[in-house]
Amino acid sequence: MLEIERAEGVYLYAADGSKFIDLIAGISVSNLGHCHTQVVKAVQLQAEKYMHLMVYGEFVESPQVKYAEKLTSLLPSHLNNVYFTNSGAEATEGALKLAKRVTGRTQLISFKNGYHGSTQGALSMMGDETFKRSFRPLLPDTLQLTYGQEEGLSAISNKTAAVIVETVQAESGISVPTKKFMQQLRRVCNETGALLILDEAQTGLGRTGKMFAFEHYDIAPDILLLAKALGGGMPLGAFISSKERMQALTENPVLGHITTFGGHPVCCAAGLAALEVLTTENLVTQVEPKGILFDALLVHPKIISKHRLGLMMALEFENYETNKRIIDRCIENGVLTDWFLFAPQCMRIAPPFIITEEQIRFACTIILEAIETKG
Ligand code: PMP
Repeated sequence: MLEIERAEGVYLYAADGSKFIDLIAGISVSNLGHCHTQVVKAVQLQAEKYMHLMVYGEFVESPQVKYAEKLTSLLPSHLNNVYFTNSGAEATEGALKLAKRVTGRTQLISFKNGYHGSTQGALSMMGDETFKRSFRPLLPDTLQLTYGQEEGLSAISNKTAAVIVETVQAESGISVPTKKFMQQLRRVCNETGALLILDEAQTGLGRTGKMFAFEHYDIAPDILLLAKALGGGMPLGAFISSKERMQALTENPVLGHITTFGGHPVCCAAGLAALEVLTTENLVTQVEPKGILFDALLVHPKIISKHRLGLMMALEFENYETNKRIIDRCIENGVLTDWFLFAPQCMRIAPPFIITEEQIRFACTIILEAIETKG
């Protein structure tokens, strides 16, 4: 296993002196690359002012307030209330509880091959039985539909509290849904009163070429989940909804969702600094053209299929063994990549947005060489 000594920009530097171009970005976390000076500075400044003071919500802490203001300024007006958490899984938990509380219903619907975290509520939403079997019993009254299949959406009813879905399903090997499917999902949720939770832990904050992936589909969620890149490299998640809905967590019981460290001031300061760089430098506009370049360069008969939106891409090979051999070879040659949880035959390409054209060309040359190398 590699021991990483330091990381900067798109590179990871190992203790033995080797360096790697990062095509994973810590699973869609390091969108600005590693150790961006403005993010590091924000962490240092905030750590010097204060770190943890009190459980989330007791005091006004300006990094949380400023970050929530910045995020909501980029979102549709009904997504105006941010609850910061420590992780993506905790954002999922909070969103599911909120939906049950707001609707007074219990059924929770998700999709096969979806991933929303590893805690028990989030695991109950996972669309893969292999990962769930050993931990049953999980939450009752759940249902997993087939992602992208419109007919299945008729299972959503006036008993459904929420439907949780990744706007682009990542761990299935980047499944990009059609506009028709997403719009139909939104329509059925409107008709039945089920809340639509869009999990943008991986897709959020620019990864698909739009600030939020739901912008591709001309829809908006009732509850939005963010994580991964949200903390600019620090641990931070959020569930975001309307103030009226979020109010449901403040009564019966009084503190419906509590967290000690959620919205940690240093994490919020880091996330805000990262988002400011992302917006002022217009980095999101570079995402799709860079994705297109990867797509154009990665052509080989052994690549069975490619799935991509922006800078989230899956290259499908014949099987896991072939993929693993190619990935290992890439790593030997200084290009870091991996596979997907539910698609072990697919290689992940999700680099920091700051990757240059030259670096993309280098990485693709290494990948193509690795494909050519006999096992
Ligand atoms: N949702 C999605 C779409 C994810 O990809 C992940 C993490 N892979 C999570 C939720 C959970 O986030 P965390 O690991 O921070 O709990």
